[in-house]
Amino acid sequence: MWNHHENFLAVKLHGGIIACSLLEYSVMIHLKSTREIESMKGASKIVAEILLELRENIREGATTADMDRIAEDLTLKKKAKPAFKGYRGFPASLCISVNEEFVHGIPSTKRVLKSGDIVGLDFGVIYDGYYGDSAMTVPIGQISPEVEHLLRVTEQCLYKAIEQAVPGNYISDISGAVQKLAEANNYGIVREFCGHGIGRSLHEDPPVLNYVQNGKGPKIKQGLVLAIEPMINLGSDKVRVLEDGWTVITADGRPSAHFEHTVAVTPDGPMILTKV
Ligand code: MG
Ligand code: MG
Repeated sequence: MWNHHENFLAVKLHGGIIACSLLEYSVMIHLKSTREIESMKGASKIVAEILLELRENIREGATTADMDRIAEDLTLKKKAKPAFKGYRGFPASLCISVNEEFVHGIPSTKRVLKSGDIVGLDFGVIYDGYYGDSAMTVPIGQISPEVEHLLRVTEQCLYKAIEQAVPGNYISDISGAVQKLAEANNYGIVREFCGHGIGRSLHEDPPVLNYVQNGKGPKIKQGLVLAIEPMINLGSDKVRVLEDGWTVITADGRPSAHFEHTVAVTPDGPMILTKV
């Protein structure tokens, strides 16, 4: 069956826990009823609306703390709770990762965005007892064609992966779709972080790796709800954690992109919940 021992150790080493938290996976996959999926739409819709708002407001000269404040204010206005704030001690509502920052960047009043940056916005809320989780990487002003291609391919990886989230497939079909496209472009796939099941907990079984590890993984069934999240590096797949204990950066300093949706598996195929 599923062997994530290797990832377990790696995650422990890197201390990463929002994009992927193998440390706290339960051993059981919790399939959701149609009614639960209806309830889950609430949290996911709020996440989607806020991410769109962030994308519209983000600009050169803004700080990453400005974006965090917008995200938090909107969350409270919508009567939801930020999912990441206080999660294992994470100090903010929004994970905001600029350029070579891979995931889990901490918002700062000192980090001023400038033209040519790419900014990973990873956001989640709790609403009505359920979590929603989504991410996108947005360009500021003019970015290089090489980085633009990275963003386009990483987003394509997400949609190719989502296509595989149908009953009868295996989790490794999702992983394989990401891996195939990313590797065809010679991009680095970080091994230590992955997607996850989601529901009443932010991170549930099963882990959704961005590469095929060993075996097929669990079979995909109706009612499975997954946060699918390709995180793809322009350069090598090596990353390290900064001294703040959170921010993960690429080891070679080259940029990285991240796109994520919360997706429910229905008899009619995948339903993207974090889409307005
Ligand atoms: Mg996630
Ligand atoms: Mg996320």
